[in-house]
Amino acid sequence: MIPKYKRILLKLSGESLMGKRNYGIDPEVIAQYAQDIKSVTDLGVQVAIVIGGGNIYRGMDSEETGIERAQGDYMGMLATVINGMALQSGLEKIGLYTRLQSAIKMEQIAEPYIRRRAIRHLEKGRVVIFGAGTGNPYFTTDTAASLRAVEIGADVILKGTRVDGIYSADPEVDAHATLYRTISFEEVYRNNLNVMDMTAFTLCQENNLPIIVFDMNTPGNLLKVVIGEKVGTLVTR
Ligand code: UDP
Repeated sequence: MIPKYKRILLKLSGESLMGKRNYGIDPEVIAQYAQDIKSVTDLGVQVAIVIGGGNIYRGMDSEETGIERAQGDYMGMLATVINGMALQSGLEKIGLYTRLQSAIKMEQIAEPYIRRRAIRHLEKGRVVIFGAGTGNPYFTTDTAASLRAVEIGADVILKGTRVDGIYSADPEVDAHATLYRTISFEEVYRNNLNVMDMTAFTLCQENNLPIIVFDMNTPGNLLKVVIGEKVGTLVTR
């Protein structure tokens, strides 16, 4: 099998880590993700990961509980570090070498984010997990994924979700909704489709970084995407 991409940025949502639970981390999901990630590093693909935190805490929801937005966002960023540590353990358990880099300094558990160092780890075959999002409130982990992908020169962002790609409408509401195989950045804007938030999306478009949205919860899908099989939706110029 010959991989289509040399260096990928995999975006995993926090929510998908819940599996069948309503909160937190399902160890079966971590184990599945770890196997899938191993299947692509075995091909020599360099893998960087940005992980969300929505399964633990979301800044957007904090105001309802009387916590101001920026404070809640920092709490959300900490949640991504917890998820990153769980994923790191899952990867190491099956023999992968990993590094966790955090956008907020916490020296006892993660390296600080240093771009050149992250690239060096990737070149040495280590999986690099980027925790704490961008390190700034009012951003999302999708934006962190776009930013890090551009910074490290990734060939593509693979956005792992629980749906199998981008649809013309919400398939749960509209029976005629169709799945796009490929779609341009302009078409996504024009049809007001929800791929990533606009900050994240614009960063990809401006830097001509393709995005593939695919179902990460189906084992084997990540490998299929990486070897160029028709899985998910490709957003490109
Ligand atoms: N967050 C932030 N800045 C960032 C990334 C994340 O403030 O650069 C906060 C924000 O509060 C967000 C939470 O972290 O709600 C969890 O991230 P996100 O909702 O993007 O995770 P996902 O939806 O992928 O689980």
